Parts: sequence; C-alpha cells; structure tokens
Amino acid sequence: MDANPPSCSSSTVSLSIKTSIFVSVLTAMIPDRFVVERKYERKMFAEPHINGEKRGWIEVVCGAIFSGKTEELIRRLRRAQIARQRIAIFKPQLDNRFDDVHIVSHDARSIPSTPVAGSAQILALCSGIDVAGVDEAQFFDSQLPEVAEELAFRGVRVVVARQDMDFPGHPPAGGPMPQLMALAEYVTKLHAICQQCGNPATHSFRLSAVSDQILVGEKEQYEPRCRHCFVRGMSQREAVQAP
Ligand SMILES: [Zn+2]
Repeated sequence: MDANPPSCSSSTVSLSIKTSIFVSVLTAMIPDRFVVERKYERKMFAEPHINGEKRGWIEVVCGAIFSGKTEELIRRLRRAQIARQRIAIFKPQLDNRFDDVHIVSHDARSIPSTPVAGSAQILALCSGIDVAGVDEAQFFDSQLPEVAEELAFRGVRVVVARQDMDFPGHPPAGGPMPQLMALAEYVTKLHAICQQCGNPATHSFRLSAVSDQILVGEKEQYEPRCRHCFVRGMSQREAVQAP
C-alpha cells in the first residue's frame, strides 16, 4: 500500500494550473478587434472618445407616460457631467408644465435646459458640445432626425427622450419619432405600470376625449396602461360616443 498517496490538494493545484494555461491559450487566440469591442462596450455610455478619436451617436429613450424617460435622460446627462464632458440640454418651448427652463422628471429630479422653438436652434447651440440631450422630442419639428444625425457626425453623443406612440396608440404617422428610432445606434424602451391591472404599461391612455394630437401630458390627462387595458378603454369610449 502506498504510504504517501497523492493528496487531494496537490491534484487540485495541478488541475488549476492546467486550467490557467488553457484559459491563457484561449485568450491569446481572441483577435484584437474583439478586445477593442469589449473595451468600447464598457465605455459606450460614458465616453464618446475611442482611442483618441471623437465619435458621435444617437440614443433614443422611449416609452409610455410615467415610464421614467426623463429620469433616464437626466441620469445619463448627469453621468456625462461627472465625466467632465460638456453637455447641452434642450426642451421644447411648448412644454412648460413644471418649469420654464429646467427639465423636471415626475420624481422631482431636475436639470437646467435651454427651451427652443425648433430643432434648427439645437444645431446652432451645440458648438463645442460633447453630449446633447433633448427631452419630449415628440413636440419638435420633423427636422430633428437630421439635426441629430448632423450632431452625431460632428462627434456629439445625442440622447433623445420621447413617447413612442400617439394618443390613439399608434406609431405617429408624422413627426420625428420613426426616423429617430431608425437612425439611432441605441434604443431603450422603458415601461410604466398599468394603472388598471399592474402589468407593464406601454401605452399612454388619454383620460379626456379631446382629440388634438398635441396635448402636453400631465397626471390628470393621461395614465399608463398595458395593451389590453388600453384597447378596452378605447372601446368603452367609442361605445359611449356612438350615437
Ligand atoms: Zn393593464
């Protein structure tokens, strides 16, 4: 009988060394371009400079009312500020629900912004800027996608927040939304909570029967609903309005 059998710990060490060598060989086989891409992914929402070259892109944050779009926009812009990047934030002059100048989220976070009458003004005000934020983009004119692209080509990271559907629950036929979502490198869709059933909400249900396309939203005018509760509410309204 072997008086000194190989110990369990020495086998484990041997296996660990073999695993370490195997991992090292595998890592050496990964092309450099993948390593660069992983580095880029880690930095993509904090640093618009890759290997010293300034690159711009477009991010869209969309969703129903009360889904946290403005909170997310403010969070991304604050992080850019912490990274000492030069930021500019714009909101439509039309939207003065909470403040004339600040962008204010439903959870009372705020950030100073520049109210503008149209998207052409954004282009003129972004000289020397690293990150441009645009809130409530659905209230801007149809030139906004062109402006966002021009800024991205100039090396600006553009973050746009907006509702992704109109009040009847359809993708808007006009306006900047479809083009912006198609042109964006990154699209984040946020969900609110359905006020009828508690499921994730993707629709903004207008509580009044007003049919104007543009009705700047507030708690009393809209509520978030899931697809099923939204359709049920619209059907009930049509039944009431029917002669
Ligand atoms: Zn629901």
